[in-house]
Amino acid sequence: MSLDALDTTERVIAYCRQNNLIEGAQTDIEELIRRTPNLELVKKPLRDGIDAYIREIEPQKYEIGVNSKHSLTRQRFSMAHEFAHFQLHRKNLKELEEGERILHRSDERNLIEWQANSFAAEILMPEDQFREEIERTRGNISEIAERFGVSELALRYRAKNLGMRGHGV
Ligand SMILES: [Zn+2]
Repeated sequence: MSLDALDTTERVIAYCRQNNLIEGAQTDIEELIRRTPNLELVKKPLRDGIDAYIREIEPQKYEIGVNSKHSLTRQRFSMAHEFAHFQLHRKNLKELEEGERILHRSDERNLIEWQANSFAAEILMPEDQFREEIERTRGNISEIAERFGVSELALRYRAKNLGMRGHGV
């Protein structure tokens, strides 16, 4: 499986499982990005309100920047979101270069942002494992969030995406 063709969440999850990039239940998104050809990762303080950016630094080469002032769980989601943009939208990134606010935004009607958030949530919380954890912990949100290394906000987003609203999550 080629690292620069991980353009479906199934492929990303399969790649991570085959290459030991899932520790416990945590997808090692940082290592996944670092292994991806033509993709660099920079962690640095970004201006307030900005989670991350992705931009083309030279032809066909891209850089993801993540706001190092944020919590690790938030950074993980931001990295997964930008990784999704790289895999799905890299030919059309102009408006993302300045940096963006992720998941807290209200304009999820924007298709590419919705796709990137869904992709990020799916690779950080694969459906089979997510359902297992809900079962195992009887829907204990903080415990599940900790297990996946995500914020509770991201976890609720995932549950909603799976149509689990009203099942205790
Ligand atoms: Zn985005």
